[in-house]
Amino acid sequence: MDRTLFNEEHDLFRQSFKKFIEREVTPNQERWMEQGSVDRATWKKAGEAGFLCPWLEPEHGGAGGDFLHSVVVIEELAKSYESGFAMKLHSDIIVPYIHEFGNDAQKKRWLPGCANGDIVTAIAMTEPGTGSDLANIATTAVRDGDHYVVNGAKTFISNGILCDLCIVACKTDPDPKNAHRGISLIVVEAGTSGFIKGKKLKKMGMASQDTSELAFEDCRVPVANRLSEEGSGFAMLMQKLAQERLVVAIGAQATAERVLADTLTYVRERKAFGKPIGSFQNTKFKLAECATKVEVGRAFVDRLIAEHAAGKQLVKECSMAKYWQTDMLCEVVDTCLQFFGGYGYMLEYPIARAYMDARVQRIFAGTNEIMKVIIAKQLGL
Ligand SMILES: Cc1cc2nc3c(=O)[nH]c(=O)nc-3n(C[C@H](O)[C@H](O)[C@H](O)COP(=O)(O)OP(=O)(O)OC[C@H]3O[C@@H](n4cnc5c(N)ncnc54)[C@H](O)[C@@H]3O)c2cc1C
Repeated sequence: MDRTLFNEEHDLFRQSFKKFIEREVTPNQERWMEQGSVDRATWKKAGEAGFLCPWLEPEHGGAGGDFLHSVVVIEELAKSYESGFAMKLHSDIIVPYIHEFGNDAQKKRWLPGCANGDIVTAIAMTEPGTGSDLANIATTAVRDGDHYVVNGAKTFISNGILCDLCIVACKTDPDPKNAHRGISLIVVEAGTSGFIKGKKLKKMGMASQDTSELAFEDCRVPVANRLSEEGSGFAMLMQKLAQERLVVAIGAQATAERVLADTLTYVRERKAFGKPIGSFQNTKFKLAECATKVEVGRAFVDRLIAEHAAGKQLVKECSMAKYWQTDMLCEVVDTCLQFFGGYGYMLEYPIARAYMDARVQRIFAGTNEIMKVIIAKQLGL
């Protein structure tokens, strides 16, 4: 099916980002996986070239594009099998909190750096004791004059080591009766005394992504770093999580398309018993099933992108897409990997990396079970 979402300008932007990937991403992927993070210099280059926060208005230092420019970046990065360069997390999940909920001084201070690559961001919600049950976080921020004193531990934080700025979900009201309204979002800058970047975690996939533990020990943060009102953190997160889920779905869809295309090429070339393995009925049927799922997924995601870009609230549908698209990706990658035989298990084959990178997508950004909880609630159950 033809896609009708993009205009000529988005197409040119796509061509230019593809060249950026060829030049700055692909040659470095092996090394990034070994070092467990993307080079800081590449973030800067991406910012200078206008690929970070491409939707941000020029008055804040952005290029003045729209959400579809972000979609282009997410899709092309996914198609390059680069799972660790957390551009979508920075541009389309974290910076929007500052853009929407920051006051003028905060926007002026942080947004230009977020767009030009001087500032890499992280968001710290998850803790060793709680992930899905966000209202029960234990990190506290206690008011002391014009500062908060932050204490607590966060884990699994993407960009944890690289970040210059981290939005930390903290309890400003520890009363359990007030669990949802007791959370505030506080921006903690790297270098603040008591903000400790901990262990870089070893993962099953997403090898080039820096995922870390963070600790806050009597970390004094100016009250001026709080986003919006005290106690409004949970409401802000709920408002922005729909885009986070859609962004994950967009990446999963694009990866599934790339995996399918590469598998179709492989089964035409690889021979067994004197014939291409693509000529066996099992291969045809399995890949026909995968292609159908991918095509159905594309129709749903493109519709959501269009409606989201037009400003529609899509809490239920974005949760559906996050769960369905990431489940679909895992099924498609698993099926496709089988056609690569032993090569599919070798890390030098991108399909093996795609397999390991896919699994976490059913876990982060809200587990797929939590997506179903949200969908059911929206259905009135
Ligand atoms: C690579 C990676 C990167 C990440 N990046 C970040 C980040 O940048 N920032 C951040 O804050 N977090 C991040 N996370 C954390 C991630 O969002 C959490 O792991 C996720 O939300 C699940 O929380 P948990 O691990 O505590 O699991 P738990 O909440 O303990 O869940 C365990 C299991 O119980 C199920 N479950 C829980 N509640 C329910 C329920 N009500 N009904 C049915 N089933 C339920 C879950 O679905 C899951 O299967 C990252 C995680 C990973 C692995």
